[in-house]
Amino acid sequence: MERTFLAIKPDGVQRGLVGEIIRRLETKGFTLVGLKLMSVSKELAESHYDVHRERPFFDSLVKFITSAPIVAMVWEGDGVVASARKIIGATNPLTSDPGTIRGDFGVSIGRNIIHGSDAVETAKREVALWFKDEELVNWQPQMTTWLYE
Ligand code: UDP
Ligand code: MG
Repeated sequence: MERTFLAIKPDGVQRGLVGEIIRRLETKGFTLVGLKLMSVSKELAESHYDVHRERPFFDSLVKFITSAPIVAMVWEGDGVVASARKIIGATNPLTSDPGTIRGDFGVSIGRNIIHGSDAVETAKREVALWFKDEELVNWQPQMTTWLYE
């Protein structure tokens, strides 16, 4: 089954949105297979955001992500990569649709609460970057038969 990497950024953790964000993904029907609260090293932040290395916001982004704890997660489910991106909303919270995490809880692009992998291939890279194999749990919730036909 498909997996995606999501991370509640320092602003989301500091604002007490961890439970609310997990609730949205859980009640949608996705399965949590990895979860940890952690401090992020500069090396890990730079590697995670490597594609943005040349962008003007790169340094401030790395500084922000390493400034306070984040919650790293892996979620599983059919089509979870694209669906989680929809649940998260567009990059700029000011224009994200209401009903999305960013649309409901943010006002600024540099404080947009949560990260989500943007494609299946990116998700594979990011899951491997943030989690060791033994940190991920292979399990199937009892309710699966009530979620999938
Ligand atoms: N970002 C920023 N300023 C910008 C564009 C992006 O601070 O003008 C930050 C923001 O935190 C965003 C992250 O860089 O979430 C990665 O940007 P990307 O375009 O990949 O957005 P995302 O995939 O997170 O929606
Ligand atoms: Mg991105």
